[in-house]
Amino acid sequence: MSQPRRGWLAAITAATLWAATPIVAQAQSLIRDTEIEMIIREGADPILEASGLDPDDVTILLVNDPTLNAFATQGQRMGFHTGLILEADTPNQFLGVLAHEAGHLSAGHTIRGDIERAGMQPFLLTMGLGVLAALAGAPDAGAALIGSSNYFGTLSALTYSRSQEAAADQAAATALEAAGVSGQGLVEFFEEFRYQELFSDERRFPFFRSHPLSSDRIAGLRRRVQGQAHYDVVDTEEALFQHRVMQAKLYAFLNAPAYTLLRYPATDTSYEARYARAIAAYRASNIDDALNQIDALLEEHPDNPFLWELKGQVLFEGGRPAEAEPAHRRSVELLPDAGLLRVNLAQAIIAQENPARLDEAISELHRSLTYERDNPFAYLLMAQAYGTAGNDGEARLAQAEYHFSIREMEEAQRTAVFARARLTPGTASYRRAVDIILATGASLEDIEELDRSQQN
Ligand SMILES: [Zn+2]
Repeated sequence: MSQPRRGWLAAITAATLWAATPIVAQAQSLIRDTEIEMIIREGADPILEASGLDPDDVTILLVNDPTLNAFATQGQRMGFHTGLILEADTPNQFLGVLAHEAGHLSAGHTIRGDIERAGMQPFLLTMGLGVLAALAGAPDAGAALIGSSNYFGTLSALTYSRSQEAAADQAAATALEAAGVSGQGLVEFFEEFRYQELFSDERRFPFFRSHPLSSDRIAGLRRRVQGQAHYDVVDTEEALFQHRVMQAKLYAFLNAPAYTLLRYPATDTSYEARYARAIAAYRASNIDDALNQIDALLEEHPDNPFLWELKGQVLFEGGRPAEAEPAHRRSVELLPDAGLLRVNLAQAIIAQENPARLDEAISELHRSLTYERDNPFAYLLMAQAYGTAGNDGEARLAQAEYHFSIREMEEAQRTAVFARARLTPGTASYRRAVDIILATGASLEDIEELDRSQQN
């Protein structure tokens, strides 16, 4: 709340930049980042539980889009645009919106025009922030990976009924109170943007198109949360700090370095500002500068897995995979259950092109998938590693898994049929190939046809 103007300017700037970098612009990709996900989960899980949901069943999506939006949809998914996270002044505001979306989920509200009718794929693409940054400089790779999607744009146009909105507000107030969290942020957030909405361009505020705010609705909600026992509870210093770190990281990865340096000038010596500037240096391809800045941060925080991850990423993108490996390995040691960190490690090993070490990389990828089953990028790397190792059956199976994970069913089926022909019957991999063929809805005829075609 302290400097709202800066936030506004930043978001407008981001929108402008989007238009200038079409690779990122056209794709509302899903962003993956272990650090940001952990920060969000820390605050979210108690609220999801208080909403009567099982946090493990709820998927929280982070959509790379500078507009301000959040949504809840089928399959216990809720999504937040990066724009909303950057605009939320406090964790409490963000958690207020999250509690509202959880209210829609727990009440089982259905939205007009859902995923199936929109004819889109729910998991077109998930990628790490670093991959996203790398894509900006590699248009071909970007085009191949991103595909086309207005999927989330379609979602943001969906609306609930007025009574469903009121019910979600009430559920949010109840859940926040039960989780010991103040409902103040939710009301603040609504009020702040209620006012701005009057002046806003259409594009920036999809959330308020789908969540129309009457002054009655806000006043009613305010009365309700003011009467709750935890109204005066404030965010902890630690939560505020983590929120700032999350915003700095997102901002620095998603905006041109020059803008990051405006928002986080050298005079700002806070951790998050230094972190943002290190990322900006990396985004500007000033590899040595970035490494110096990261090393300085690591000297103060030697056990921060995300600084090690960033260091590994900078070295990797700088074409130094052998040096990236120990940095990624350290991040894995510090956070062994994080699937994405293991994927980084495997990628650094594969890039060293040492045939004797492919097995090691493959085993890291398998381990990463035990922590997180649906990671398209892990399957892509696995296909590459198995392919290089000459294991065609497993390479095809990993390819099939990749297509399956992003819901490209025809491709998944086709590659799974190829895989099955090359795998040993009775093995787990063979059974998995069969499962994919069946799960993709292949008819007997399809399967026979594919079998014939691959024998030619
Ligand atoms: Zn709503």
